Amino acid sequence: MKNLKKLTIDENYFYLNIIKSKHRKRKHSLSILSQIVKNRYEEFEQLVKNSDLSRIKKENFTLLEKEALLHLYNQPTIQLNNLKKEIKRSQCEFYSTHCPYCGLYHSDTFDHYLYKEEFPEFAIYSQNLIPSCSRCNRKKNTKWIKDSIRQYIYFYADKIPTVQFLFCSIAVTSDFLITRFYVDTKNCSNTIEKIIVENHFANLDLIEMYEENCNSFLSERKNTIKKYFSGTLAELKEIMKSDLEEYILKFGLNNWQSVLLDELIKQDDILSTWI
Ligand SMILES: [Zn+2]
Repeated sequence: MKNLKKLTIDENYFYLNIIKSKHRKRKHSLSILSQIVKNRYEEFEQLVKNSDLSRIKKENFTLLEKEALLHLYNQPTIQLNNLKKEIKRSQCEFYSTHCPYCGLYHSDTFDHYLYKEEFPEFAIYSQNLIPSCSRCNRKKNTKWIKDSIRQYIYFYADKIPTVQFLFCSIAVTSDFLITRFYVDTKNCSNTIEKIIVENHFANLDLIEMYEENCNSFLSERKNTIKKYFSGTLAELKEIMKSDLEEYILKFGLNNWQSVLLDELIKQDDILSTWI
């Protein structure tokens, strides 16, 4: 779990450029709206800077204005496609293809962090566009906030805790391994971060998802070790520790695979049956 990189583009220029491709009537209403959109972009940026995005208020647009602003996103254009490509291209290798919300599936859609039907002025605002998998996008849907508290990590700016908050345990039965993931934020120092992280995991059912996917991760590891490794347990653990360092660097400390590998290294009983 790592932050996304923000694009460094002139958002107002992008807005003015994209409306050039629209028909006369729509172009006219979007031009009239350009100052309001510019102000809203500034407001968004300021709130993010102050870690206060939850305080953003809706703007009152007429139905026609809303339709015109949404059209900018809903109608594919070369400019918008390029923007989406650029957002993905700017990320580290893993997040250029994978969803930051779950860290599991490919990002095949874009989520609007602020729901676009409520905040149409941010429909093409790069800082509101999160490359995400369709599952997370569908699950998150409109529910970015509840009782004035944000429900999902905002990957462009939220400080992702640097301490471990995702954990797992592996129990051995006679036939198989039972892996359980859990979130424990007691080591996180900031209360708001704690709540957002807990909401994020609960709302997206991430624990359930990781538990569904961990068996294939474990059996793949087991097969590779059985096939290619012929050393001692201590040597195997050294190799796995250096793998873990790479995982943490690539995916972050609280990525489900990093957490699973970290736990696996501690399981001598399991590993000794794999060599
Ligand atoms: Zn996802």
